[in-house]
Amino acid sequence: MTAQIIDGKALAQDIRQQIRQQVAQLGPQAVPGLAVILVGDDPASQIYVRHKVRACEEVGMRSIAQRHPADLAESQLLEHLDTLNRDPAIHGILVQLPLPAHISAERVIDAIAPEKDVDGFHPVNAGALLGGRPGLRPCTPLGCMRMLASIGLTDLGGRSAVVIGRSNIVGKPMALLLLAANATVTICHSATPNLAQVTRQADILVAAAGRAGMVSGNMVKPGAVVIDVGINRGADGKLCGDVDFAAVREVAGAITPVPGGVGPMTIAMLLANTLDAARRSAA
Ligand code: NDP
Repeated sequence: MTAQIIDGKALAQDIRQQIRQQVAQLGPQAVPGLAVILVGDDPASQIYVRHKVRACEEVGMRSIAQRHPADLAESQLLEHLDTLNRDPAIHGILVQLPLPAHISAERVIDAIAPEKDVDGFHPVNAGALLGGRPGLRPCTPLGCMRMLASIGLTDLGGRSAVVIGRSNIVGKPMALLLLAANATVTICHSATPNLAQVTRQADILVAAAGRAGMVSGNMVKPGAVVIDVGINRGADGKLCGDVDFAAVREVAGAITPVPGGVGPMTIAMLLANTLDAARRSAA
């Protein structure tokens, strides 16, 4: 039996369509606005920023893309953030990571108003997630939860979930969202011994390590749902995930592809968070 493919591209398209309708209902006086800041000329970041701005425009949101040279002083970036924090037409602010080495990502994230932090990285939002309070959730893990929901997995009580990766951006918030949905959660990282033994217990396996093809068929429980967050360049130069897709799809019950899986869902969730932030600011 080969696994069901969870089509993130199609699901993201549906969500964007719904968001477009909701934005239209808000009317011209309440158009949600997103500011995306890019510092430097990292080619991958430039592509991500372009996609985010275009996605915003497609759903009828206002977007500002600020592109700054790599030698922008941290103090100047903080001033730009301060201006955007006070701008009532801007409801979401996103600083594209990674930042040049002379700028502290922590100081920058801390400087974004929590209610405009559509990436969900600010300590106030991270704390709200930990404490089970309302707040903006990180887009990638949120997108993974929507993919699970799309195959009927909303209450995960009685299921075991394993997350490979413990970053603040993906692994940790992913584990907390799975926990909030009642899964029994294990987090693995580079110091986890016998990784395969742990992953084989998972009904839901989320791979977010950034290691091309590291999840092989024998690491997966038959019938498990496998969510592949990884974005890597394979030896052949092609984009690939952390999961050996060809092998794992023969074992898993459902699997997300790369590309066309978690990536498009991340952008859809950025739009959802921006809409959410705009609604909260109007309430
Ligand atoms: P990080 O490098 O910050 O974190 C990677 C995590 O994986 C770390 O916790 C690390 O452990 C763990 N890890 C690395 N190697 C192994 C291993 N061999 N066995 C077990 N654990 C391991 O990456 P991110 O969390 O930012 O991103 C993870 C991946 O997801 C990347 O490929 C990234 O490109 C992708 N990504 C995709 C997005 C999307 O929209 N689809 C969005 C964001 C990220 P330790 O902590 O011990 O070092």
